[in-house]
Amino acid sequence: MDGYPIGAGVELPALGLGTYPMRDEQATTAVAGALRLGYRLVDTAASYGNEEAVGRGIAAAGLPRAEVFVTTKLRGADHGYQETLAAFEASRLRLGLDYLDLYLIHWPLPRIDRYVESWRAMITLRGDGLVRAIGVSNFTPAQLDRLIDETGEVPAVNQIELHPYFPQEPLRTANAARGIRTESWSPLARSSDLLREPVVASAASRHGVTPAQVVLRWHVQLGAVPIPKSASPQRQAENLDVFSFELDQQEMAAISGLERGRQGGDPEVHEEF
Ligand code: NDP
Repeated sequence: MDGYPIGAGVELPALGLGTYPMRDEQATTAVAGALRLGYRLVDTAASYGNEEAVGRGIAAAGLPRAEVFVTTKLRGADHGYQETLAAFEASRLRLGLDYLDLYLIHWPLPRIDRYVESWRAMITLRGDGLVRAIGVSNFTPAQLDRLIDETGEVPAVNQIELHPYFPQEPLRTANAARGIRTESWSPLARSSDLLREPVVASAASRHGVTPAQVVLRWHVQLGAVPIPKSASPQRQAENLDVFSFELDQQEMAAISGLERGRQGGDPEVHEEF
């Protein structure tokens, strides 16, 4: 699986494993199993309450540390400079790792208005060698520009809700224009009606793959990094196996044409702590 350079010597794998809402033994088993199948990117967050379980899964897989790319996220309750430094350390210890690969501000929380302070702390953490790359999640173009204008530091990644029901063309373009890699959360739209959509099903039968593989391939061809969650070893393997076929332009356009709107929170107002 190829990846994308997102900083000096840092490569983001092209597809990863989401871990919400798995916890405890289920999260440990899913992460260890996925890494054994060939996944190299694992996505968690302080707010998922599963960092210890995810860390146990990473350890159980027994891979050299440098081969695994681990992302976690700063929760809303910990916005602020000192708060972010302390929250990072707590996440790092829960994961049982010496360093993390990517740390994201989970939501901008514009009403609280402390994300620039958190961003400054993340710059410090990277300078101290505790995290290799820093980024954001659910940020609008205006919020991205504020970080860049006030600190001079461009986020490596913006992890956003992205799937054929919400293709986010303007935000993907805004990310790319700033040199920011897009990651897709809920890439399968949480396995809703999407996988039964006729344009998805017909592309699947044309290519001899499953509907989920068609959707994940659509992300890959957009240059976005999907992080599908699956607790099932069989579906994990299916989701990873999307690098040996190609959708044509008509198929890509038809899938993007399924647009109907967001399913998750609106970054301008969504609050979770
Ligand atoms: P997904 O789009 O990944 O969908 C997950 C659902 O799809 C699960 O019910 C899973 O069930 C099912 N599924 C997985 N693979 C297949 C398949 N091949 N065929 C059929 N069904 C399948 O949604 P998520 O919301 O979980 O998003 C993925 C990850 O993104 C999260 O786990 C989390 O890490 C991250 N995230 C980040 C957010 C943010 O604000 N930054 C917000 C939301 C999510 P099963 O397990 O049984 O296979």
